[in-house]
Amino acid sequence: MKSVIVLLGPPGSGKGTQGEKLSEELGYTRLSTGDMLREAVRNGTELGMKAKSYMDSGALVPNDLIIGLMKEKIAQAKGGVILDGFPRTVEQADALAQQLDVDLALNLDVDDDELINRLTKRRSCPQCNAVYHLIYNPPKAEGVCDKCGGALYQRDDDKEETVMNRLKVYRENTMPLIDYYEKKGTLVTIKGVGSIDDIFKQVEKAVQ
Ligand code: AMP
Repeated sequence: MKSVIVLLGPPGSGKGTQGEKLSEELGYTRLSTGDMLREAVRNGTELGMKAKSYMDSGALVPNDLIIGLMKEKIAQAKGGVILDGFPRTVEQADALAQQLDVDLALNLDVDDDELINRLTKRRSCPQCNAVYHLIYNPPKAEGVCDKCGGALYQRDDDKEETVMNRLKVYRENTMPLIDYYEKKGTLVTIKGVGSIDDIFKQVEKAVQ
């Protein structure tokens, strides 16, 4: 079984949803840089204050902030880890490679039109980080998280103008990681369309 798993793929490709299911099934720690940063912003920490303006515009937070944060979190994690949203640049991938070997880089491939549809209709829970889609995966009660009862909201960076920038940033900075992990022989690409459960079956196969 692969024990260090990197989830690659553009924003809205399902990294959070699939990563969450996988971490429940395998008992691995899921480390999501996006969730950590949003929590830091909500709590008004130094990291949050530094990260906020980058996140609001859909830009990447500087490498040094992210690399320092993840180094510590990875060192604290016990057992297998699922990295969701990290690395997002070659510099981050090199820093990760110095700390541990990645067993699997799972790339979720989804077309831009579908990503825009998913992101602009996504609703998130600020308490437990669960995500919903207004049409494909709505909560049982409108505006309320099924898992924890939190009040769902639309992330500022899921509004259309910012989504377009996030996709551009993904293409320029993160897409090169597909080649990076291909060359290391750890890349598996899955078409990230269809039902959540059907995609998950392919994810399960890839981790074995
Ligand atoms: P996400 O929830 O993964 O879509 O991340 C939301 C935002 O957090 C991104 O648009 C970036 O501004 C920031 N972010 C998350 N992960 C990283 C990372 N590995 N490197 C730089 N910025 C990041």
